[in-house]
Amino acid sequence: MTELRYEDRTDFDDASRGLIGALDPCVVTDAEGRVVWDNDSFAFLGAECPDTANPSLWRQSQLCAKHGLYEVTDGIYQVRGLDLSNMTLVEGDTGVIVIDPLISAETAAAGLRLYREHRGDRPVTGVVYTHSHVDHFGGVRGVVDGDVPILAPQGFLEAAVAENVYAGTAMLRRGMYHTGSPLPRSPRGLIGTGLGQTSSIGSISLLAPTVDITHTGQQEVVDGVRIVFQVTPGTEAPAEMNFFFPDRAALCMAENATHNLHNVLTLRGAVVRDARVWSRYLNEAITLFGDRADVAFASHHWPAWGRDRIVAFLSQQRDLYAYLHDQTLRLMNQGLTGPEVAETIELPPALESAWHARGYYGSVSHNVKAVYQRYLGWFDGNPAHLWEHPPAESARRYVDCMGGVAEVVAKARAYAGDGDLRFAAELLNHAVFAEPTNAQAKALLADVYERLGFGSESGTWRNFYLVGATELRRGIVMEGSSVSAAGMITALTVEQLFDSIAIRLNGPRAWSSSLTIDWRFTDLGAAYRTTLSNGALIHWPAEPAAGADLRLTLTKAQLIGILAGQGIEGVATEGDPKVLQVLVELLDDPDPAFAIVTP
Ligand SMILES: [Zn+2]
Repeated sequence: MTELRYEDRTDFDDASRGLIGALDPCVVTDAEGRVVWDNDSFAFLGAECPDTANPSLWRQSQLCAKHGLYEVTDGIYQVRGLDLSNMTLVEGDTGVIVIDPLISAETAAAGLRLYREHRGDRPVTGVVYTHSHVDHFGGVRGVVDGDVPILAPQGFLEAAVAENVYAGTAMLRRGMYHTGSPLPRSPRGLIGTGLGQTSSIGSISLLAPTVDITHTGQQEVVDGVRIVFQVTPGTEAPAEMNFFFPDRAALCMAENATHNLHNVLTLRGAVVRDARVWSRYLNEAITLFGDRADVAFASHHWPAWGRDRIVAFLSQQRDLYAYLHDQTLRLMNQGLTGPEVAETIELPPALESAWHARGYYGSVSHNVKAVYQRYLGWFDGNPAHLWEHPPAESARRYVDCMGGVAEVVAKARAYAGDGDLRFAAELLNHAVFAEPTNAQAKALLADVYERLGFGSESGTWRNFYLVGATELRRGIVMEGSSVSAAGMITALTVEQLFDSIAIRLNGPRAWSSSLTIDWRFTDLGAAYRTTLSNGALIHWPAEPAAGADLRLTLTKAQLIGILAGQGIEGVATEGDPKVLQVLVELLDDPDPAFAIVTP
């Protein structure tokens, strides 16, 4: 077991360096007065770590809970601790460029106000999105309403939509476990996610990029500021980029190198990432910018100053992802499955003891399973796992074999008493899925999850365990979950809107329906045909032609109105308008509160 060096206070020095001012209180409300961000609720972290938290995560949360406006270097500032992510402000000739405007318009606006209070009332003259995750663009309407260049890596919009809209409902629900949003903020509840404290819950927005960054070496000048880009697709996000400010010797590492082991696969769910490519792009960043950067900052956590320290930091991050990737493949090729690799793998001592390589957000355990998943998928090759019963069916049979729920609970209590919380959780999960009304099984499972959570070094593991415990005790709690992707809908393309309709189509109810609709969009100068057959809604660009049941002439805004249930008023129709009604009636509503720890 590696000793962690708590006496090393470098991170605390760096996280405090350059503080200019802070919100007091550090609370942000929306137009209705609802609190969307309250950093002061984490003030309890000033105390010594209690026995309800892992000391290493407690330390990380103390660092993440620091908040205010910080000078990174001459002309570059960061607002930290006002949301899960950082907003960076780069001063140009006439105004200020905003990098990554947080999650909510309200927190982004508050961050900009804090900046202006100390640096003058500069207009926003450009926006840069480092990547396609919502904590890096959702607050954009809080800082600008269009009319400025918005730079983003190529593929940004498609990736943002695929991650946040197509799978949006499921991801939001799992995201509550991930961020711990239903938990009280306390030494027994939410202490942080490792990447930042938690997500704000204001209004999410999205303005489409106006400048695509397509290749490494591309240089842009925004408000007189030179920026040289390195595109890093397939790293922490499908569309992501690092960039360098040559006139300020400052390197932005987006979210590719932060003060934690990041996720190869996030627990909220995402398309699995490529640790190999991630590592390669970190190496490329070192070779491109390492000998020129005096400071490296990212959109989470605190910067690192000094060339030697930057190169050492980036090299360790690079080696970390390469090691997880390569060693998983090595062991996989010796026949180990994901859970077996997770149990076997050990980091080299130098990485194990580096604070920034600790698994506060990702973990070695779930990241190596993700590497396995990327190459070999969900199936481990063992035919016993090919056609298992689903959880509730399987649970009923296990419980039956073990002599009933009372017997399973007694056995689980013994395992928990011996400290084998992992197996106790497995047994009790079977009991709860076999008999979801059994109060004893649920209560004991909640206790076991709580102990697992208190011991977790990963913030997201802790949150999953503690939200699971909470929902076993109190049922599904939806508070703190009002973030929605609704504000993003206007940024979707027509194709993406059609995709989002197709995803909601109830297949079995639509089996016997077939229809064809032609759509002409007057504002876009584009036309599409959609056909429903065999329970699948297909769309493609096509001019109106024979064979359509209905032709609609409309704008994209009117299509969004139809989807919102506002009907087809003002839309020119030709053919049978009831066809549209048939389609709308075949759409399901997603369930934002589906069960997770119970069947
Ligand atoms: Zn982020």
